[in-house]
Amino acid sequence: MTSRSPVYPALVFVAVVGGLARPAVRAQPQPPNQPGTTWDERQLRDAVDLARVGRKLTPKSWPNGARVAVCLSFDTDTEAPLLRDGTTSPTALSASDFGAESGTPRILKMLDHYQIPATFFVTAVDATLHPDMLSAIVKSGRHEVGVHGWIHEFTPRLGEGEEERLLDQAIAYLTKATGKRPVGYRAPSWAFSAVTLDLIRKKGFLYDSSLQALDEPYEIVSRGKPTGIVELAIDWTLTETPYLGQNGRMPSPTLLYQLYKEEFDGAYNEGTLFVLTLHPYLTGHRAPMQHLDQFVAYMKSKPGVWFATGAQIAQYVKDAGNR
Ligand SMILES: [Zn+2]
Repeated sequence: MTSRSPVYPALVFVAVVGGLARPAVRAQPQPPNQPGTTWDERQLRDAVDLARVGRKLTPKSWPNGARVAVCLSFDTDTEAPLLRDGTTSPTALSASDFGAESGTPRILKMLDHYQIPATFFVTAVDATLHPDMLSAIVKSGRHEVGVHGWIHEFTPRLGEGEEERLLDQAIAYLTKATGKRPVGYRAPSWAFSAVTLDLIRKKGFLYDSSLQALDEPYEIVSRGKPTGIVELAIDWTLTETPYLGQNGRMPSPTLLYQLYKEEFDGAYNEGTLFVLTLHPYLTGHRAPMQHLDQFVAYMKSKPGVWFATGAQIAQYVKDAGNR
């Protein structure tokens, strides 16, 4: 995932016209079209029918009697999202390159220190530009590589057939580069098009990690039918881009990691699942890395925490659900 924060209209200053002070508003965007205001019940139901919550898949017990499953996931968005848009500014590209050059090595070192696995959702173009990054991820044998698009394409805006062409390219590239066909999918920008779910079923993925309807694992239902695809849901509160990204509003990672800790404690008490989505180009900086390290140490200090890849968790809950 990588985000572009929405821009909200704002009152900017007070203009004095004819001696009267009145608020002046920067050119206000027009209200969006509101087609849903005239939809009938059938249209409303059709609109939400593409990807819904099916069976809850939290198992009766996690492996070795663990209380909670933890999936640390990293979306290795380096230059791909910028190149997708034709950006060639060396300065902008270098800020993303930080994720490959500094961020990912630091994250891998931390994961090695604690001997825990993680899932890296990799954009194929980033893997092409950074073969050393990909081989470093694969080297320990603990980590999973999932698909995060070809060039971080925003799929809802692609023409017919383009999404499948790019997805096929990404799968082929990552399969060849890692020696293993990926089983996990995370949509670039977490954005599903109208055909994404059909495509990831067709390509044989085990699980998706782009939707947000539950904070425990579930099976996606599409148009009333179970899809067999396990969803390991993400959430905007459980990623750092809104807080530490370019338009981030949080001055320090301290509050952010307080939020993550409370979310983890909740998952621990519920006996379900904790999925964290981070980005090496942001989290790989010194201050957030210290917080991430301390947070992992905290989770490791609790009894019964199963650190696993998305693939391991999805396979486990799918098997448990079928028993
Ligand atoms: Zn991304």
